[in-house]
Amino acid sequence: MAEFTMELNDEQKEVRDWLHGFAADVIRPAAAEWDEREETPWPVIQEAAKVGIYSLDFYAQQYFDPTGLGIPMAMEELFWGDAGIALSIVGTGLAAVGVLANGTEEQIGTWIPQMYGDANDVKVAAFCSSEPDAGSDVASLRTRAVYDEAKDEWVINGTKTWATNGGIANVHVVVAVVDSELGSKGHASFIVPPNTPGLSQGQKFKKHGIRASHTAEVVLENVRVPGSCLLGGKEKLDERLARARERARSGGERVKNAAMATFEASRPAVGAMAVGTARAAYEVALDYATTREQFGRPIIDNQGVAFQLADMRTSIDAARLLVWRASWMAVNGRPFTSAEGSMSKLFASETAKKVTGQAIQILGGNGYTREYPVERMHRDAAIYTIFEGTSEIQRLVIARTLSGMPIR
Ligand SMILES: Cc1cc2nc3c(=O)[nH]c(=O)nc-3n(C[C@H](O)[C@H](O)[C@H](O)COP(=O)(O)OP(=O)(O)OC[C@H]3O[C@@H](n4cnc5c(N)ncnc54)[C@H](O)[C@@H]3O)c2cc1C
Repeated sequence: MAEFTMELNDEQKEVRDWLHGFAADVIRPAAAEWDEREETPWPVIQEAAKVGIYSLDFYAQQYFDPTGLGIPMAMEELFWGDAGIALSIVGTGLAAVGVLANGTEEQIGTWIPQMYGDANDVKVAAFCSSEPDAGSDVASLRTRAVYDEAKDEWVINGTKTWATNGGIANVHVVVAVVDSELGSKGHASFIVPPNTPGLSQGQKFKKHGIRASHTAEVVLENVRVPGSCLLGGKEKLDERLARARERARSGGERVKNAAMATFEASRPAVGAMAVGTARAAYEVALDYATTREQFGRPIIDNQGVAFQLADMRTSIDAARLLVWRASWMAVNGRPFTSAEGSMSKLFASETAKKVTGQAIQILGGNGYTREYPVERMHRDAAIYTIFEGTSEIQRLVIARTLSGMPIR
């Protein structure tokens, strides 16, 4: 039986150090500029593609790390560099995972390379699920996909919102309702290929943080995609819908639990992003506290400052441990009987928000300016308690899982 260890193996350390180097040398120096510009940092994505960080191969390698730590380690390092730029680099991965999870071999082989492009001509992809009236309440999507049997095409109509890379993506993955009676089990995912008529970008949002990451509405008006763009294929969809209808008739609980398990496995990755941002702000604050002098001594000589740093670091380490536990559970197929994935996302995201705020306080007036990075990190950190399920939704999931009660 393998010994319990808290240490990364040599290969993991090598990957971590390589990513850290890229984050420190390429991402961090570009962070303030792209935050101000509020634009997708194409040159940085291109750099990431050149060294092999912006590619499916890289994510697949991390994903299949048998310890489960490959993805959280990569997220922590990239987001340590800068959250907005890192999201621009990993955003395509959200759409790619949608295809990997539900697509056929042929769909994976056809579409994922088009999501990334190549180092000389990088592309991005978008995953479009959220809608103006369906955020936390994902089951209430309105975007409809109707099958046109005569032409073997799907016709998609609706408005998506908050789509990372929405409208600028080469490939969009769109979640739509195919059977409105079945809640989230009546949803299916579709590839919308490059330059498909009817898909357009709506409003591009001007955001509080992660401003280097493009977020926009995506409008779908009579978008026609070939039958082959339904992820998983029609036969599989029909079987799945038939099973869901049967289960719905005999008590819907199992349907709900299957969907929950998927989220539990993906949420730790967002927790790891939050750990990266929190760690970045903590390091700036620690450095500042040891060099800034007031009353003739470094400000860290005051317990009021030193204890804050102690608490910040303790929370960050605790968050990382929760993230690693959940990631390990996911890769080893352990059941999330206490919603450990949601726990890790909840704690890490709340930690990032708190720690980045404390960092501003420790830097005093400087912390409040754009001359120092902590104000940006604080703005960035606010996203972690919102996307991939808000903190309230995480608490709801945890409370329901622990109690078995239908808490609302
Ligand atoms: C920058 C950014 C990028 C995003 N990227 C993507 C993307 O790429 N693709 C995509 O599909 N989506 C994306 N999202 C959408 C994101 O997942 C949603 O914003 C999120 O799920 C919350 O939905 P909402 O904004 O509609 O808030 P709402 O669901 O309206 O929630 C508003 C408030 O009510 C609370 N609330 C709601 N229901 C309950 C309840 N039952 N109990 C207690 N409190 C509750 C929430 O916690 C929140 O505080 C992104 C969002 C942002 C801001």
